[in-house]
Amino acid sequence: METIRLARVMRETAIKEKRNGKSIGFVPTMGALHEGHLSLLRTARAENDIVVASIFVNPTQFSPGEDFDRYPRSVGDDLEKLEGLADLVFLPEKETMYPPDFSTRVEIEGMSGAMCGPFRPGHFQGVATVVLKLFNIVQPSRAYFGQKDYQQAAIIKRMARDLDLPLEVIVCPTVRESGGLALSSRNAYLKPEERKAAAALYRALQAGAKALKEGQREAGLIGGIMRKALSEEPLVSQVQYISAYDAETLKELVIIEKNNVVLAGAVVVGTTRLIDNLLVNDLK
Ligand code: AMP
Repeated sequence: METIRLARVMRETAIKEKRNGKSIGFVPTMGALHEGHLSLLRTARAENDIVVASIFVNPTQFSPGEDFDRYPRSVGDDLEKLEGLADLVFLPEKETMYPPDFSTRVEIEGMSGAMCGPFRPGHFQGVATVVLKLFNIVQPSRAYFGQKDYQQAAIIKRMARDLDLPLEVIVCPTVRESGGLALSSRNAYLKPEERKAAAALYRALQAGAKALKEGQREAGLIGGIMRKALSEEPLVSQVQYISAYDAETLKELVIIEKNNVVLAGAVVVGTTRLIDNLLVNDLK
Protein backbone atom coordinates (compact mmCIF):
# COMPACT_ATOMS: atom_id res chain seq x y z
CA MET A 1 0.00 0.00 0.00
CA GLU A 2 1.34 3.39 -1.04
CA THR A 3 0.57 6.76 0.57
CA ILE A 4 0.37 9.81 -1.68
CA ARG A 5 0.15 13.39 -0.41
CA LEU A 6 0.40 15.46 -3.59
CA ALA A 7 -2.60 15.87 -5.90
CA ARG A 8 -0.33 15.94 -8.96
CA VAL A 9 1.30 12.63 -8.04
CA MET A 10 -2.08 11.02 -7.26
CA ARG A 11 -3.53 12.15 -10.57
CA GLU A 12 -0.50 11.05 -12.61
CA THR A 13 -0.51 7.63 -10.91
CA ALA A 14 -4.23 7.20 -11.59
CA ILE A 15 -3.92 8.25 -15.25
CA LYS A 16 -1.06 5.77 -15.73
CA GLU A 17 -3.08 2.92 -14.21
CA LYS A 18 -6.09 3.72 -16.37
CA ARG A 19 -3.94 3.89 -19.50
CA ASN A 20 -2.84 0.35 -18.63
CA GLY A 21 -6.50 -0.67 -18.70
CA LYS A 22 -6.94 -0.85 -14.92
CA SER A 23 -10.22 0.14 -13.28
CA ILE A 24 -10.03 2.32 -10.17
CA GLY A 25 -12.42 1.99 -7.25
CA PHE A 26 -12.44 5.02 -4.95
CA VAL A 27 -13.62 5.40 -1.34
CA PRO A 28 -13.43 8.98 -0.03
CA THR A 29 -13.40 9.26 3.78
CA MET A 30 -12.65 11.68 6.58
CA GLY A 31 -10.73 8.98 8.47
CA ALA A 32 -11.41 7.58 11.99
CA LEU A 33 -12.18 4.45 10.02
CA HIS A 34 -14.69 1.84 11.20
CA GLU A 35 -16.42 -1.21 9.73
CA GLY A 36 -18.75 1.02 7.71
CA HIS A 37 -15.80 2.48 5.81
CA LEU A 38 -14.15 -0.92 5.52
CA SER A 39 -17.28 -2.45 3.98
CA LEU A 40 -17.08 0.14 1.18
CA LEU A 41 -13.44 -0.74 0.64
CA ARG A 42 -14.21 -4.46 0.44
CA THR A 43 -16.86 -3.83 -2.20
CA ALA A 44 -14.45 -1.60 -4.13
CA ARG A 45 -11.80 -4.32 -3.86
CA ALA A 46 -14.15 -6.94 -5.33
CA GLU A 47 -15.19 -4.75 -8.28
CA ASN A 48 -11.97 -3.00 -9.36
CA ASP A 49 -8.32 -3.61 -10.24
CA ILE A 50 -7.00 -0.78 -8.06
CA VAL A 51 -8.53 0.58 -4.86
CA VAL A 52 -7.87 4.14 -3.72
CA ALA A 53 -8.98 5.48 -0.32
CA SER A 54 -8.67 9.12 0.63
CA ILE A 55 -8.51 10.56 4.12
CA PHE A 56 -9.24 14.27 4.34
CA VAL A 57 -11.20 16.09 7.03
CA ASN A 58 -12.74 18.61 4.68
CA PRO A 59 -13.03 22.01 6.39
CA THR A 60 -15.56 23.45 3.89
CA GLN A 61 -18.25 20.93 4.86
CA PHE A 62 -18.25 22.02 8.52
CA SER A 63 -20.40 25.02 9.39
CA PRO A 64 -19.00 27.60 11.85
CA GLY A 65 -19.42 26.22 15.39
CA GLU A 66 -19.45 22.58 14.23
CA ASP A 67 -16.89 19.95 15.29
CA PHE A 68 -14.11 20.47 12.70
CA ASP A 69 -11.43 21.03 15.36
CA ARG A 70 -12.40 18.08 17.53
CA TYR A 71 -13.38 15.67 14.70
CA PRO A 72 -11.61 12.35 15.53
CA ARG A 73 -8.28 12.02 13.70
CA SER A 74 -6.33 8.76 13.78
CA VAL A 75 -4.29 8.50 10.59
CA GLY A 76 -1.82 5.93 12.00
CA ASP A 77 -4.61 3.51 12.99
CA ASP A 78 -6.45 4.22 9.75
CA LEU A 79 -3.43 3.27 7.63
CA GLU A 80 -3.18 -0.03 9.53
CA LYS A 81 -6.85 -0.76 8.85
CA LEU A 82 -6.40 0.06 5.17
CA GLU A 83 -3.51 -2.36 4.73
CA GLY A 84 -4.68 -5.13 2.38
CA LEU A 85 -7.88 -3.24 1.46
CA ALA A 86 -6.48 -0.24 -0.41
CA ASP A 87 -3.60 -0.07 -2.90
CA LEU A 88 -3.21 3.70 -2.66
CA VAL A 89 -4.14 6.12 0.10
CA PHE A 90 -4.49 9.77 -0.86
CA LEU A 91 -3.75 11.95 2.17
CA PRO A 92 -3.78 15.55 1.00
CA GLU A 93 -2.93 18.57 3.14
CA LYS A 94 -5.52 21.32 3.49
CA GLU A 95 -3.29 23.67 1.44
CA THR A 96 -3.18 21.11 -1.41
CA MET A 97 -6.95 20.97 -1.61
CA TYR A 98 -7.62 24.64 -0.90
CA PRO A 99 -4.87 27.02 -1.94
CA PRO A 100 -5.42 30.58 -0.60
CA ASP A 101 -7.14 31.82 -3.79
CA PHE A 102 -9.50 28.84 -4.12
CA SER A 103 -12.87 30.27 -5.16
CA THR A 104 -15.06 27.60 -6.81
CA ARG A 105 -18.11 26.05 -5.17
CA VAL A 106 -20.39 23.28 -6.47
CA GLU A 107 -24.07 23.67 -5.55
CA ILE A 108 -26.68 21.00 -6.18
CA GLU A 109 -29.80 23.15 -6.10
CA GLY A 110 -32.84 21.94 -4.19
CA MET A 111 -31.35 18.71 -2.93
CA SER A 112 -28.87 20.56 -0.71
CA GLY A 113 -31.68 22.42 1.01
CA ALA A 114 -33.68 19.31 1.99
CA MET A 115 -33.34 17.13 5.11
CA CYS A 116 -30.03 18.11 6.80
CA GLY A 117 -29.74 21.25 4.64
CA PRO A 118 -31.35 23.81 7.01
CA PHE A 119 -29.38 22.45 9.99
CA ARG A 120 -25.99 22.43 8.24
CA PRO A 121 -25.80 25.52 6.00
CA GLY A 122 -23.12 25.14 3.33
CA HIS A 123 -22.45 21.50 4.22
CA PHE A 124 -23.48 19.86 0.95
CA GLN A 125 -21.82 22.58 -1.09
CA GLY A 126 -18.61 21.74 0.76
CA VAL A 127 -19.15 18.01 0.20
CA ALA A 128 -19.93 18.33 -3.52
CA THR A 129 -16.96 20.65 -4.09
CA VAL A 130 -14.44 18.40 -2.37
CA VAL A 131 -15.84 15.21 -3.93
CA LEU A 132 -15.72 16.66 -7.44
CA LYS A 133 -12.15 17.77 -6.79
CA LEU A 134 -11.22 14.32 -5.43
CA PHE A 135 -12.84 12.68 -8.48
CA ASN A 136 -10.70 14.81 -10.77
CA ILE A 137 -7.56 13.89 -8.85
CA VAL A 138 -8.25 10.16 -8.33
CA GLN A 139 -9.97 9.53 -11.71
CA PRO A 140 -12.13 6.67 -10.41
CA SER A 141 -14.06 4.25 -12.60
CA ARG A 142 -16.38 3.66 -9.64
CA ALA A 143 -16.84 5.64 -6.41
CA TYR A 144 -18.35 4.13 -3.27
CA PHE A 145 -20.55 5.91 -0.72
CA GLY A 146 -22.50 4.67 2.30
CA GLN A 147 -26.28 4.73 2.48
CA LYS A 148 -25.87 5.99 6.04
CA ASP A 149 -25.30 9.45 4.56
CA TYR A 150 -28.27 9.09 2.22
CA GLN A 151 -28.58 12.75 1.26
CA GLN A 152 -24.87 12.97 0.51
CA ALA A 153 -24.98 9.87 -1.74
CA ALA A 154 -28.10 11.14 -3.57
CA ILE A 155 -26.44 14.54 -4.14
CA ILE A 156 -23.24 12.98 -5.46
CA LYS A 157 -25.26 10.76 -7.81
CA ARG A 158 -27.11 13.81 -9.11
CA MET A 159 -23.86 15.75 -9.54
CA ALA A 160 -22.33 12.84 -11.48
CA ARG A 161 -25.37 12.69 -13.74
CA ASP A 162 -25.75 16.46 -14.22
CA LEU A 163 -22.06 17.03 -14.97
CA ASP A 164 -21.56 13.86 -17.08
CA LEU A 165 -18.82 12.59 -14.80
CA PRO A 166 -17.24 9.50 -16.38
CA LEU A 167 -17.73 7.23 -13.39
CA GLU A 168 -20.29 5.13 -11.60
CA VAL A 169 -21.53 6.12 -8.13
CA ILE A 170 -22.28 3.07 -5.99
CA VAL A 171 -24.21 3.27 -2.72
CA CYS A 172 -23.47 0.51 -0.18
CA PRO A 173 -25.66 -0.61 2.76
CA THR A 174 -25.38 0.94 6.22
CA VAL A 175 -23.30 -1.09 8.68
CA ARG A 176 -24.82 -1.11 12.19
CA GLU A 177 -24.00 -2.18 15.71
CA SER A 178 -26.01 -5.15 17.00
CA GLY A 179 -28.49 -2.78 18.69
CA GLY A 180 -29.13 -1.02 15.38
CA LEU A 181 -27.04 2.15 15.83
CA ALA A 182 -25.39 3.03 12.50
CA LEU A 183 -21.60 3.09 12.78
CA SER A 184 -20.23 6.61 12.57
CA SER A 185 -16.92 8.26 13.42
CA ARG A 186 -18.97 10.67 15.57
CA ASN A 187 -20.22 7.79 17.79
CA ALA A 188 -16.87 8.25 19.57
CA TYR A 189 -18.40 11.38 21.15
CA LEU A 190 -21.18 9.36 22.85
CA LYS A 191 -20.99 8.41 26.53
CA PRO A 192 -21.93 4.73 27.16
CA GLU A 193 -25.52 5.54 28.21
CA GLU A 194 -25.90 7.89 25.23
CA ARG A 195 -24.66 5.18 22.88
CA LYS A 196 -27.42 2.90 24.11
CA ALA A 197 -29.99 5.68 23.75
CA ALA A 198 -28.78 6.48 20.22
CA ALA A 199 -30.27 3.23 18.89
CA ALA A 200 -33.69 4.89 19.40
CA LEU A 201 -33.25 6.60 16.02
CA TYR A 202 -33.06 3.27 14.22
CA ARG A 203 -35.99 1.92 16.22
CA ALA A 204 -38.06 4.98 15.30
CA LEU A 205 -37.26 4.53 11.60
CA GLN A 206 -38.18 0.86 11.85
CA ALA A 207 -41.52 1.77 13.46
CA GLY A 208 -42.16 4.17 10.55
CA ALA A 209 -41.20 1.54 7.97
CA LYS A 210 -43.52 -0.99 9.63
CA ALA A 211 -46.48 1.41 9.43
CA LEU A 212 -45.65 2.17 5.80
CA LYS A 213 -45.45 -1.50 4.89
CA GLU A 214 -48.74 -2.15 6.69
CA GLY A 215 -50.43 0.35 4.39
CA GLN A 216 -50.17 3.75 6.09
CA ARG A 217 -49.68 6.29 3.30
CA GLU A 218 -49.99 9.60 5.18
CA ALA A 219 -46.45 10.82 5.74
CA GLY A 220 -47.59 13.06 8.61
CA LEU A 221 -48.92 10.08 10.54
CA ILE A 222 -45.75 8.06 9.85
CA GLY A 223 -43.73 11.07 11.09
CA GLY A 224 -45.88 11.08 14.23
CA ILE A 225 -45.18 7.39 14.87
CA MET A 226 -41.42 7.99 14.49
CA ARG A 227 -41.48 11.07 16.76
CA LYS A 228 -43.43 9.16 19.40
CA ALA A 229 -40.81 6.38 19.35
CA LEU A 230 -38.08 8.99 19.82
CA SER A 231 -39.95 10.69 22.67
CA GLU A 232 -39.71 7.42 24.63
CA GLU A 233 -35.94 7.89 24.89
CA PRO A 234 -35.19 10.77 27.33
CA LEU A 235 -31.56 11.17 26.20
CA VAL A 236 -32.72 12.23 22.73
CA SER A 237 -32.56 15.95 23.46
CA GLN A 238 -33.59 17.26 20.03
CA VAL A 239 -35.29 15.92 16.91
CA GLN A 240 -34.11 18.09 14.01
CA TYR A 241 -36.26 16.27 11.48
CA ILE A 242 -37.72 12.84 10.89
CA SER A 243 -39.98 12.25 7.94
CA ALA A 244 -40.60 10.47 4.64
CA TYR A 245 -38.87 11.69 1.48
CA ASP A 246 -38.84 10.80 -2.20
CA ALA A 247 -35.73 8.61 -2.43
CA GLU A 248 -34.53 10.29 -5.61
CA THR A 249 -35.48 13.97 -5.36
CA LEU A 250 -35.38 14.11 -1.52
CA LYS A 251 -38.65 16.09 -1.54
CA GLU A 252 -40.62 15.64 1.68
CA LEU A 253 -43.73 13.56 1.00
CA VAL A 254 -47.29 14.26 2.11
CA ILE A 255 -49.10 11.26 0.66
CA ILE A 256 -46.88 8.30 -0.19
CA GLU A 257 -47.81 7.19 -3.69
CA LYS A 258 -44.46 6.03 -5.07
CA ASN A 259 -42.65 2.85 -4.14
CA ASN A 260 -39.32 4.55 -3.52
CA VAL A 261 -39.35 6.23 -0.15
CA VAL A 262 -36.60 7.05 2.29
CA LEU A 263 -37.45 7.55 5.95
CA ALA A 264 -34.72 9.75 7.35
CA GLY A 265 -34.01 11.60 10.56
CA ALA A 266 -31.48 13.64 12.49
CA VAL A 267 -31.46 13.80 16.28
CA VAL A 268 -29.20 15.12 19.00
CA VAL A 269 -28.23 12.72 21.80
CA GLY A 270 -26.37 14.53 24.59
CA THR A 271 -24.47 17.01 22.41
CA THR A 272 -23.90 14.64 19.48
CA ARG A 273 -25.84 15.00 16.25
CA LEU A 274 -26.74 11.67 14.64
CA ILE A 275 -28.40 10.82 11.33
CA ASP A 276 -29.89 7.62 9.95
CA ASN A 277 -32.33 6.43 7.31
CA LEU A 278 -34.19 3.44 5.94
CA LEU A 279 -35.02 2.95 2.30
CA VAL A 280 -38.43 1.41 1.63
CA ASN A 281 -38.84 0.23 -1.94
CA ASP A 282 -40.81 -2.98 -1.59
CA LEU A 283 -44.29 -1.55 -0.98
CA LYS A 284 -47.18 -3.61 -2.30
P1 AMP B 1 -17.01 9.83 6.44
O1 AMP B 1 -15.64 9.40 6.81
O2 AMP B 1 -17.95 9.95 7.59
O3 AMP B 1 -17.03 11.01 5.51
O4 AMP B 1 -17.61 8.61 5.59
C1 AMP B 1 -16.96 8.14 4.45
C2 AMP B 1 -17.89 7.20 3.71
O5 AMP B 1 -18.21 6.09 4.56
C3 AMP B 1 -19.20 7.85 3.31
O6 AMP B 1 -19.57 7.42 2.01
C4 AMP B 1 -20.15 7.35 4.36
O7 AMP B 1 -21.50 7.32 3.93
C5 AMP B 1 -19.62 5.95 4.58
N1 AMP B 1 -20.08 5.43 5.87
C6 AMP B 1 -19.98 6.04 7.09
N2 AMP B 1 -20.59 5.30 8.04
C7 AMP B 1 -21.07 4.19 7.41
C8 AMP B 1 -21.81 3.05 7.84
N3 AMP B 1 -22.16 2.88 9.11
N4 AMP B 1 -22.13 2.11 6.92
C9 AMP B 1 -21.79 2.28 5.62
N5 AMP B 1 -21.09 3.33 5.15
C10 AMP B 1 -20.75 4.28 6.02
